[in-house]
Amino acid sequence: MRHYFCLKRNGICVIVREKERSGNVRKSIWHQKVEALYHRLPPAHPRFQEVKKELAKCNAGLEGEKRLLYFLSEINESYRILHDIRLPSANGTTHVQIDTIVICPSIIFLFEVKHISGTLLFNRYTNQMTRNDQVFGDPITQVQRQEHFFAEWLPKPMPVLSVVVLSHPQAKVEFQPVDSPDRAYVLYPTDIRQRMEEKINGLPAMLTKKETFEFAKRLAAAHKPFDQDIFHVFHIQPSDLLPGIHCPKCGTLTVIKVKRHWECSRCQLLSKTAPIQALHDYTLLVGTAITNQQLRRFLNVESRSVSEKLLKKCREDSIGTTKGFVHMMKKPSS
Ligand SMILES: [Zn+2]
Repeated sequence: MRHYFCLKRNGICVIVREKERSGNVRKSIWHQKVEALYHRLPPAHPRFQEVKKELAKCNAGLEGEKRLLYFLSEINESYRILHDIRLPSANGTTHVQIDTIVICPSIIFLFEVKHISGTLLFNRYTNQMTRNDQVFGDPITQVQRQEHFFAEWLPKPMPVLSVVVLSHPQAKVEFQPVDSPDRAYVLYPTDIRQRMEEKINGLPAMLTKKETFEFAKRLAAAHKPFDQDIFHVFHIQPSDLLPGIHCPKCGTLTVIKVKRHWECSRCQLLSKTAPIQALHDYTLLVGTAITNQQLRRFLNVESRSVSEKLLKKCREDSIGTTKGFVHMMKKPSS
């Protein structure tokens, strides 16, 4: 399976993972799982607010990545850009997730995107980022750690610069102390182009065009998506999930088969993709192996033939005899 490809975007040659094919940053597997869980958890469930909060965090992160990509697309150079890359350490015991990596022949930029509105105070005495009474993990310490970690991936010794990008248009920065040198770590998206040009200017090229491409290819191939058991993380049982097919318009689990169409009984939206998305939700939340009976229960569909048709359309493979027939779905990807 291809994990990356080369794309000309506004004259820039970039390497992007499959998810950016359309120019849109796609949701990570974790983001897809959280969204699927959110749609199927009763609002009265004790973990609902926690899941809702996590979904808001995922959505903000995606929005931030999109804004950064937009500003990077204005840079008129042949740099390699990789998004949402999670790399293992040399001994494989830990992983570091990097929002965006820009590989230039003379320097490598690592961007950590924070899509948070309001006045953000970077307290360099306590190494904390706060907004009013809210305390966040310190993104400066985070990017310093990323920079240190990334050194072991370099094909040869060369400069690496880590930067925190505050992508929200309503974000404002304050520092304590006011003249902290750590200010250099924090940027607004509109300043990226100038900062990159300042850093690159005068630096000798360390990588050839081919080496730049090969390095980006190696990083993309080493990417290990964050993929945890969501039931375990939120202490939820599969039996807590609501059955049904989610309507993309009104957000309820009320899409049903009406004659030849799938229609929302609440808002009357006709959707061909809603049942396919619901089956995808099953593979995200429960697993890739599913029987006809399990799908009918999950979708709240009575007809065995309707369910069978959907499974045959979407399955990759099948195993077992007629009695214990299991359909194998494609593994979800980001
Ligand atoms: Zn609807």
